[in-house]
Amino acid sequence: MPASEGHPPISSVQSLCVIMSIQNPCLSCGACCGYFRVSFYWAEAESGGGTVPDDLTSKVNNHLCCMKGTESQPARCVALMGDIGSQTRCTIYEKRSSPCREFETHEVDGSVNEACNRARAHYGLPPLNPLLPGEQVA
Ligand code: SF4
Ligand code: SF4
Repeated sequence: MPASEGHPPISSVQSLCVIMSIQNPCLSCGACCGYFRVSFYWAEAESGGGTVPDDLTSKVNNHLCCMKGTESQPARCVALMGDIGSQTRCTIYEKRSSPCREFETHEVDGSVNEACNRARAHYGLPPLNPLLPGEQVA
């Protein structure tokens, strides 16, 4: 159909697809910070030149340390404030380690991170759904 008839060409229609932001479920969750051992290379701690405050870490072995509170079950990171499943906050957000930065609710293709749903299930929280085309987590 030619554009001159008053209808935009298909390529223009596709570019009109709106990105819909859904509310970030992490704001009322925090389950992963109270479920997994959060371990990382020791040099991510301040004493190794990194950012994570030393006094919030525990040694795992000669190569790894972890966030205090996550070395045993039941786990709960000492840097986590608030009530899991209600309202939580990471008190070292800007200084958090690489596993904390890399753990996402969804994969790049929009599928759910199953580890996220496992942590949520542990606290009786409903599973997250895959993102629909055009959706992104705010
Ligand atoms: S378990 Fe999932 S939804 Fe909950 S805080 Fe972690 S990444 Fe966010
Ligand atoms: S450092 Fe922050 S993001 Fe990482 S486990 Fe602890 S509370 Fe969660």
